[in-house]
Amino acid sequence: MPARVVVLGGGVGGTLVANLLSKRLGRDATVTVVDGSGMHVYQPGFLYVALGQADALWLARDERTLLRKDVELVVENAARVDPTAQVVQLVRGGTIPYDHLVLATGSRIVREQIPGLVAGAHDFYSLDGALRLREALRTFRGGRVVIGVAGIPYKCPPAPVEFTLMVEELLRHKGLRSRSQVTLLSPLNRAFTVEPASKLVQPIMEKRGIELQTFFNVESVDPDKHTVSSLEGETVEYDLAILVPPHRGAKVLEDSGLVDDGGWVPTDRATLQHTAHERIFALGDATDLPISKSGSTAHFEAPIVASRIASLIKGTAPREAYTGRVMCFLETGNGRATALRFDYAHPPTPPTPSRMWHWAKWAFNRAYWITVPQGRIA
Ligand SMILES: Cc1cc2nc3c(=O)[nH]c(=O)nc-3n(C[C@H](O)[C@H](O)[C@H](O)COP(=O)(O)OP(=O)(O)OC[C@H]3O[C@@H](n4cnc5c(N)ncnc54)[C@H](O)[C@@H]3O)c2cc1C
Repeated sequence: MPARVVVLGGGVGGTLVANLLSKRLGRDATVTVVDGSGMHVYQPGFLYVALGQADALWLARDERTLLRKDVELVVENAARVDPTAQVVQLVRGGTIPYDHLVLATGSRIVREQIPGLVAGAHDFYSLDGALRLREALRTFRGGRVVIGVAGIPYKCPPAPVEFTLMVEELLRHKGLRSRSQVTLLSPLNRAFTVEPASKLVQPIMEKRGIELQTFFNVESVDPDKHTVSSLEGETVEYDLAILVPPHRGAKVLEDSGLVDDGGWVPTDRATLQHTAHERIFALGDATDLPISKSGSTAHFEAPIVASRIASLIKGTAPREAYTGRVMCFLETGNGRATALRFDYAHPPTPPTPSRMWHWAKWAFNRAYWITVPQGRIA
């Protein structure tokens, strides 16, 4: 009887791992993806939508069109995982049994965790949020723009810095720069988590007159007074606040008792197995690994998960291990970008921002649909 592999979540990690498993295992396994929406969303595009540089239609595709024909797709939310009975319970009733389970449920944003955030601040971390922010930027006539992070960890660590540099550029193009002040609030002692990249972008920010306010952990937003306050006791005024909301892991995993206090799956950093359940693997944003939550992380983890599950099914010795590999682009504005390539053992040494990396990012954005989900680029 073929082994039953169930993949929870049809985002970057889940789609790729399902396709790789089906390719590797053929008739030795049935592969089923369970996804709540049945639509695959390319989230890096939210940033361009918010800036008015891309159409929202470009960002979503029917998940079915991205999966190999022999992968089954169940469009329904999972309510709970029972690791003892080895079943996934669906919200509308019914269960799906598994021999091996992959948790690829990503992360969710929880705006309500910060008082005043919903009414007082914009963000570009969902399609709705990006569309609302696009309208706010379209009608903005100058003033204090405050951009920041309202909780750690959050996905795509460079995104707030990228967005700050791109907003500054937008204000210049619209002739509003002299009437505007741009401030990045960072909870750390630098622009963002990755230290070598912070060292690269901070001088660029300084040159462009962008203020960096460090050790600012957002505690609340006051939508009436137009202020953001920090746990450290500081308050800044804004005319336009753009704050990355706090993130948590998927609720289904919390309800199943499979995660830590933040909602993240305790995951072995090399094998990507759940530390308490050897038949459960995790990848992408869902894990508690000390590495960026990014599509690229999920992309590099997927072949490891697929190879290890294939070994378990075929009874061969698993050989591949995840090394913490990540590769992200970082737009610095003015048509330039840099690239961050690193792993657990090697911090990034980002090249000087150039047009080449900017175009590489654009080419990647365009080629995403026909490359990453199918495993065509490693
Ligand atoms: C503005 C922005 C810019 C970004 N830029 C970049 C970038 O430049 N480079 C980069 O590498 N990454 C970037 N990212 C991050 C990247 O998009 C995520 O890290 C990546 O999508 C994570 O992949 P994943 O497979 O773990 O989760 P996701 O792609 O989020 O997929 C999770 C899936 O699980 C499903 N799901 C959740 N709960 C359930 C349930 N109970 N039942 C069934 N299905 C469920 C969801 O419907 C979803 O389809 C960016 C993100 C944002 C928001």
